[in-house]
Amino acid sequence: MERLEKLYEGKAKILYNTSDPDLMVQYFKDDASAFDGKKKGTIVDKGVMNNHMSSRIFQYLEGEGIKTHFVKNINDREMLVKKLDIIPIEVVLRNVAAGSLCKRLGIEQGMILQKPILEFFYKSDPLGDPMINECHVDVFGWATNKEVEILKAEGIRINNLMTKFFEERNIRLVDFKLEFGRHKGEVILGDEISPDGCRLWHLETNEKMDKDRFRFNMGNVEEKYQEVYDLICN
Ligand code: UDP
Repeated sequence: MERLEKLYEGKAKILYNTSDPDLMVQYFKDDASAFDGKKKGTIVDKGVMNNHMSSRIFQYLEGEGIKTHFVKNINDREMLVKKLDIIPIEVVLRNVAAGSLCKRLGIEQGMILQKPILEFFYKSDPLGDPMINECHVDVFGWATNKEVEILKAEGIRINNLMTKFFEERNIRLVDFKLEFGRHKGEVILGDEISPDGCRLWHLETNEKMDKDRFRFNMGNVEEKYQEVYDLICN
């Protein structure tokens, strides 16, 4: 499927129209950003690795009965996806305390959470993706109550499946972000699943293998993405 005009360019990906109004090409860039776009840089071949890792994880989730926008992998940097009406909510699942949870609540990084925590954030670059709850979603009409129930149920199911998937590869799934959209009357998983939007720690050493290495200038960013890629895709 040939890509046509650019529909949207984000920080790490570009979406192109195709000749089929129901399908888009999702192109993965090497650009990396953090702290609401204040830190910018490049992770060499990140686009290639994230495209293949996302494809592999979407295929795994589809095989387990999760509906996603993934159609097929086209080449190293492009994935064919279904066109979604994106719900402007980031669904974050947490298994271990890290990142904004620690900052917000004074919790020590690395605490194993007794149960997964699910959080909602409003997708808005100018506002820096503020945390929201179901009342905000309802009053401001970002999703219906029924859709919110799907976001929560699918979020928990995907967390269970992905925790198992990564554990089998010697990786701890600390936390991650999901985005969903509407497609032909259904709510399905969109965006990407990669070390850009997941915290992944080595199961035994707790070494960080995700975008935190870029965020905090920890070095070996490409090497750690490559390690995750090898564990997932080879
Ligand atoms: N995350 C993301 N995009 C965002 C915000 C968060 O992919 O705009 C991911 C992030 O990589 C982490 C999880 O969601 O795996 C939880 O992020 P957190 O709320 O701790 O925020 P951060 O530390 O990224 O500011």
